[in-house]
Amino acid sequence: MRDLPPISQSAEHFQRLGLHEEEETPTEPNGRLKSSSGTSSLPCSIYFPPTGSPTVPPRRNHAGLDPQFLPLRKQIVSQVSLESPLSPASLPRSPWGRPDPYDSPEDQDKEYVGFATLPNQVHRKTVKKGFTFTVMVAGESGLGKSTLINSLFLTDLYKERKVPNAEERIGQTVDIVKHMIGIEEKGIKLRLTIIDTPGFGDAVNNIKSWKHIEDYIDQQFEQFFRDESGLNRKNIQDNRVHCLLYFVSPFGHGLRPLDVECMKALHEKVNIIPLLAKADSLTQAEILKKKMKIREDIRQFGVNIYQFPDCDSDEDEDLKTQEQFLKDSIPFAVIGSNIQVESKGRKFRGRSYPWGVVEVENPVHSDFLLLRNMLVRTHMQDLKDVTREIHYENYRAQCIQNMTRMMVLERKRRWVEMKAEVETPTTKEISLSDLRKMQEVLERIQEQIQQGQ
Ligand code: GDP
Repeated sequence: MRDLPPISQSAEHFQRLGLHEEEETPTEPNGRLKSSSGTSSLPCSIYFPPTGSPTVPPRRNHAGLDPQFLPLRKQIVSQVSLESPLSPASLPRSPWGRPDPYDSPEDQDKEYVGFATLPNQVHRKTVKKGFTFTVMVAGESGLGKSTLINSLFLTDLYKERKVPNAEERIGQTVDIVKHMIGIEEKGIKLRLTIIDTPGFGDAVNNIKSWKHIEDYIDQQFEQFFRDESGLNRKNIQDNRVHCLLYFVSPFGHGLRPLDVECMKALHEKVNIIPLLAKADSLTQAEILKKKMKIREDIRQFGVNIYQFPDCDSDEDEDLKTQEQFLKDSIPFAVIGSNIQVESKGRKFRGRSYPWGVVEVENPVHSDFLLLRNMLVRTHMQDLKDVTREIHYENYRAQCIQNMTRMMVLERKRRWVEMKAEVETPTTKEISLSDLRKMQEVLERIQEQIQQGQ
């Protein structure tokens, strides 16, 4: 049996319904229900089809339910409906721990086909598979990229980092460093990949310093394209870059030429999210001014950064306001810190100065929380969708176009070669005709000899 919910939850579920496992159902030492046939052990939380469903011959449902447990369900339902009105928290759960859309007392006498459980099925499958997300960071060194990544994902990814000195940086090229971490929260697994680009913008000559970044993004698309077109498409690893956090210096006036060139080279390949680094070094008024200038530069130079999706007109007003707020906050003014500071009896990630402390997660101090919520809670799926549907599709279409063009060229070349072969007699043909002539000469000589005799 696959992917069963933890037993503790199931037990809790039964207790909520006023049932005691040991009284109602025989269990094995591992906490699972004893199967009468002895072939399968069942979890306590089982999906029961609604009583009003069309009658079908008794058979195990997909959760492995024996028909003998159906009376138990009736008992549960009657207890629920008679004794306790269902609050959302006490709603019965499907085998994978999601509220079952048919398990409410008012639904019991209705007939259903059952497709309202589709979201549950999708949820169960995706949770089992786990999630992946790849973030790339770029910006000149010292802007707080590593510190922000550590703060965002509560990790310490850069313990062994060696910062090169000025001499080493003169001719430095951009490196691509990949960090992978597995995070698990409430049973949901996330494989997070951080792609760091040390050395970007550090050399004396930064012309084309984004080329390595561009190549890396392309390579991931290429790999995915190969895997997708290959024979074994089952376990494809998706390493495509879903978003690029681009750090803009707080000390300049808007975007630098390098920022513009780099963003323009990459904006068709990746979702760019610009960040105003080290926001604690600016006053509130300066932050607003710099944000406006950066937005103006982005517009003026035709840089396509990640566009937050528009809300539908029938969407919730709160959601519309939130989305608008997000759009107006670009570039997010961020602060990072690797340490916890204590102030007024509270401990938090922050930076301590002689004149006070800044809290990384305080929305009054920075957009850090806005960025993290956007990245993780609200727009992670959209970033992946845009990567798949727009950036990867562009790459794929271009690949197919190039392949078709190459095939046409190759066919043309072969056709020209064949035509030339037909028009020019080959060595083989020349020697054959020569042979024929020689044979004729020989025959004539033989005739003359015979006549002479
Ligand atoms: P990276 O080279 O871009 O990865 O930058 P680091 O994360 O190594 O940070 C460089 C320096 O800036 C370190 O001394 C950090 O403590 C400091 N730093 C990082 N984030 C911030 C921030 O938000 N504000 C300020 N004032 N300093 C920061």
